[in-house]
Amino acid sequence: MDHVETLECTLCGAEYDPDQVIYTCSEHPGVKGILEVRYDYDEVLDRFDESLDGDVRSQWKYRAFLPVADDVEPVTLGEGGTPILDAPRLGTELGVDLRVKDDGRNPTGVLKDRATAVSLTKAREFGIDVVTCASTGNAAASLAGFSARGGFDCRLFVPGDAPEGKLAQPLVYGADVLGVRGSYDEAYDLSMEVTERFGWYNRNAAVNPFQVEGKRTVGHELAEQTRGEVPDWLVFSMGDGCTIAGGWKGFREFHDLDLVEETPRMLGVQAEGASAIHDAFHGHDDADEVADTVADSISVGRPRNTVKACSTLEESGGESVLVSDEEILAAESLLGRTEGIYAEPAGAAPVAGLRKARDAGIVDEGESVVVVVTGNGLKDTKSGMRAGGEVERIDPAIGDVVERYDGGD
Ligand SMILES: *Cc1c(COP(=O)(O)O)cnc(C)c1O
Ligand SMILES: [Zn+2]
Repeated sequence: MDHVETLECTLCGAEYDPDQVIYTCSEHPGVKGILEVRYDYDEVLDRFDESLDGDVRSQWKYRAFLPVADDVEPVTLGEGGTPILDAPRLGTELGVDLRVKDDGRNPTGVLKDRATAVSLTKAREFGIDVVTCASTGNAAASLAGFSARGGFDCRLFVPGDAPEGKLAQPLVYGADVLGVRGSYDEAYDLSMEVTERFGWYNRNAAVNPFQVEGKRTVGHELAEQTRGEVPDWLVFSMGDGCTIAGGWKGFREFHDLDLVEETPRMLGVQAEGASAIHDAFHGHDDADEVADTVADSISVGRPRNTVKACSTLEESGGESVLVSDEEILAAESLLGRTEGIYAEPAGAAPVAGLRKARDAGIVDEGESVVVVVTGNGLKDTKSGMRAGGEVERIDPAIGDVVERYDGGD
């Protein structure tokens, strides 16, 4: 991998050889030093011969930017290449010039597929055939799907409270689904322990330095798709904080390389019940460690990537906001009914956050905004039912329909 220079600790700057299986920095045990992949951009650009014409079939268009060896066949289901849609009705509702990037259209229904494809391609490169992760649902389902595709054994640690749709999916993909009686944070610690003991490849967000690099492609794609009309704001929800950081790193790289003329300000959205990154960004670190929100994918008490998420907000001149569960569910319904996009709660949270940011005077009227919908609503129909309202019961007779639509006369 001539285009990958080093793995650098985000806390102490220690450097590690990128051609080995490694997770966090060993210089300070106990404290997690997340490793950042550093590239040689001359080498990257030498390899990158695509034209940025807005036509993106999959994220592998940006293979030159991904930390994988040249001779390895990617594990792919065609992830990435999701559309960016004008959202005029929702935009009018929120008083902004709005576009939506619908990443719920990825192969397993979630933006995480971008990262999963990269981590399994790394596992293939390293010759490891058992993979694992801890997840509130989406990462597990994603890993299971791509494992089936690539012929890996997949062993998942899932906290007890994941929505059923997200458990059905990895089961159908044939993974071992181990429901941990405990929180996400406990399932996470367990997955790290087995990784150490058995040498399985661990896809956990944040600690796997390679997997998160796959999330940059949403930033690359956004840069390519908005060239000439880069938005004032780019809105993501935040759980561990890897997604917003990956999206920013990708966009910023394209800007640094003069492939796009400007960068957006990043707006990070968290739930009131899981607000650690927002709290850290606003200078109070006494965040409650027990996460509780309807948006299970961002229900994280101790985010692994607070550092990267906060520097994303800082570097981009961005902000963060909190939204309540009621606001998230209202946004899920609003997004569905104005634009025909069905998001899970964590995917709709950015819409709720944008409304919050408009009310707070963070985002001004008429500014241009791209909201990234990170996950598909079909995985969590229970929340969808809460957001969508009641089914009306009628008799199988014309009279009820006439009464309903004809004002009863
Ligand atoms: C994982 C996930 C997020 C948050 O990503 P982080 O990297 O944890 O911040 C947001 N939305 C959905 C649908 C997710 O699955
Ligand atoms: Zn370190």
